[in-house]
This record gives sequence, C-alpha cells and structure tokens, in this order.
Amino acid sequence: MLDKYTAFVKKTEILCKGLYLDENLINHYRNQGIEISYGRKGGAGPLGGRYFLFENHAIVNAALWNDPQKSDFVVKENIDGYFKIYDNQNKIEHSKLKLVQNPNYYSPEYKTTDGIPMKKIALVHGIDCLSSTIYQKCVYQGCGEGCKFCGIELSLENDSTIEEKNHTQMTEVIAAAKKEGRCSHMTLTSGTDESIDKGANRYIELLKGVKNKYPNLPLHIQIEPLEDLSYINELKDAGADTIGIHLEVLDQHIREIITPGKSRMPYDLYVKNWERALEVFGKNQVSSYVLTGFGESPDDFILGTEKVISLGVIPFITPVRSIPGRKDLPTTNPNVMVEIYSKAAKLMKEYGVNPLKSKAGCVRCGGCSSINDAYKSI
Ligand code: SF4
Repeated sequence: MLDKYTAFVKKTEILCKGLYLDENLINHYRNQGIEISYGRKGGAGPLGGRYFLFENHAIVNAALWNDPQKSDFVVKENIDGYFKIYDNQNKIEHSKLKLVQNPNYYSPEYKTTDGIPMKKIALVHGIDCLSSTIYQKCVYQGCGEGCKFCGIELSLENDSTIEEKNHTQMTEVIAAAKKEGRCSHMTLTSGTDESIDKGANRYIELLKGVKNKYPNLPLHIQIEPLEDLSYINELKDAGADTIGIHLEVLDQHIREIITPGKSRMPYDLYVKNWERALEVFGKNQVSSYVLTGFGESPDDFILGTEKVISLGVIPFITPVRSIPGRKDLPTTNPNVMVEIYSKAAKLMKEYGVNPLKSKAGCVRCGGCSSINDAYKSI
C-alpha cells in the first residue's frame, strides 16, 4: 500500500506537472465504459482537470494535457479501475490513479424547475464537494485588470453556466447531488462585485436559502477583503461555516503583475479581515489561497506563509495552473513544492493550525493542494 509520504510527494508532482492524455485514447477508454475528458473550461478552481484518487484515497485535481510536451506523466492503460501513470522521463511507473466519475445529474435531462441544466448551476469537485460560482462576472475582468490565472468568465463565454444562481436552483442541485452521495459540503465562490459589499449580500441571500433547506450542510464561501468588516459577521449569521479570503500572491511586486486589480488592496486589509473572520468563524475555519510559480524564492515564500499561519489562517498553497488555450503560466518545480509544503505543514503544527479540522470547502476537499497530505505525513 502506498504510504502517506510517498502519496504526498506523487500528488505534488502531479499538481505541478499534470498528466498527458493522448486524445486518440479517449474513444478507446469509452469503449471500456470509462468516460475521461480534459475537464471543465472555466469557473472556480484550476481549470482543465479531472479528479483522481491514489490508492491511499488521497485526491488530486490533475490537469490533463493533450500535448506530450506539457507533462512527463502519461495516462496509460486502465487495470482493475486504476489508470497506470507512466513517468516518461525516468522510464518507470509513477503511480496508479482511479478516475472519479462525474455524477449522473450532469446529463442534460437533469434540469432545475426553471429549465436550467443542473450542470450549469453547480459541479462536484473531488468526491463530494458541490461547488458553484454564484456570480460569474468580475469587475476586474471587465476593465482588463483580472487575475492572470483566473478563468471565471470563460464558462459564461462557452455557455457552460449562467451568470447568477439563486437558492432555489442551488437547493434543487443539492438534492440531486445528495441522492448520488456527491454533496457532503459546498464551496461557493464568486467574481468580485463593484458594490461596497463586494458581493456579500448576494452570498447572504443564497446562504439563507440553502441553510433553510439544508441546515446541516457545511458551506464555504470565498470573498475579497471587505472595508466594512460587519459583513463577515453577517455572512456567518446567514449560514457560512468557513471562509476563504484569498491573497493569492504573497509578494507585493508580483501581485501588481499577476493580480493587478486586487493588488490595490493592501496587505493590512487582508490581516484585518482574517482577524475578524477568525473571531467570527473560529479556529481552522479561515483560509487563503496562496499560489506558487511566480518567481518568489522558496525562502521568501515560506516567510510570507509563516506570517499568514501565525495569524491562524490556513494557507491553501497551490501551484498555479495555466488556462488551456491561453499563454502558459510558469510551473513550479515539484521538489521545491514538496519542501514548501513540508515547511508550511511544520509551521502549522507549531502554531496550532489544523487544516484537517476545516468543516467545508477547498481545505476540506483538498484536491488542488497537498497541504493536508503534507500535514498528515510529517
Ligand atoms: S480544492 Fe476542491 S473545492 Fe477547491 S477548487 Fe480545488 S477541487 Fe474545487
């Protein structure tokens, strides 16, 4: 059986490099009853991937490339439900991965009562994290200041979603996903609104509607830092269980290039928001996406991460992934990434921050980051 540390390292390698899937094999697998595709082309979280389980059940959101130049890890034959992943560079088997099947409600005949295909409302991430971008537009994208890694408006452009979702649609999809055992918690995300509440009021309405029907369903929301911190209390009161306030990039100079719109929000505002969120949501329920791959030195990255952890915030460290069809973003060396994760996990233990206690959302799902795997294995 795969031990925890080896699974952590292999998962990190796949997060950094992704997998090469030969397009010509898709039909071959389909004939074996296995539906494998290149994944979603827009929305929340890294794009163009599918979810796989290692033999020890660690989950990975793996990019699937149709270009062999992109990854040394090649998807090979499926034996007893596991794809063999071959490491082309070292000429050895890398790992065995089981594809997580898409839920049945993705079929076009599943529609909400107002006639929208359910797949356009929410998708299953990982095994059982129902996820939705409740508002698919972002003020920064509109004025050319969008984050370079974000594809929030792509799914609108390719008609795979609708601009805004309401709680009635959401509860109907929750019911369908629950029937299949695919909704134990939720990740709700949103583009940033131009308004002063940054979209908090939209969340509040949706959270109340969902919690009214599913009071025990843990819900995670993701929002920009707010000037008016009382919205954080209102979001909790409305039913959010965990919150992500995402810095995304640690270095201010790099922030200005990669997240030009968001970079105008000072770091201090993040600190104020994280502190309030920790008071309101409690220990281990506040997180921040932190992406690697933009050229910070690993030492600086760890220093920045320690600041975040010392406040009590879980750093959801993730190697940035290029958006299919757009200019390639840099990749992170997997060895450096393993070192970063290991140090961050040790720091979390020192500061008493435990990602395994997160009730909902990305930290609980863990598909896009090895932070939980590192925490478990050191
Ligand atoms: S961690 Fe899980 S819920 Fe969050 S974006 Fe990745 S796959 Fe989706």
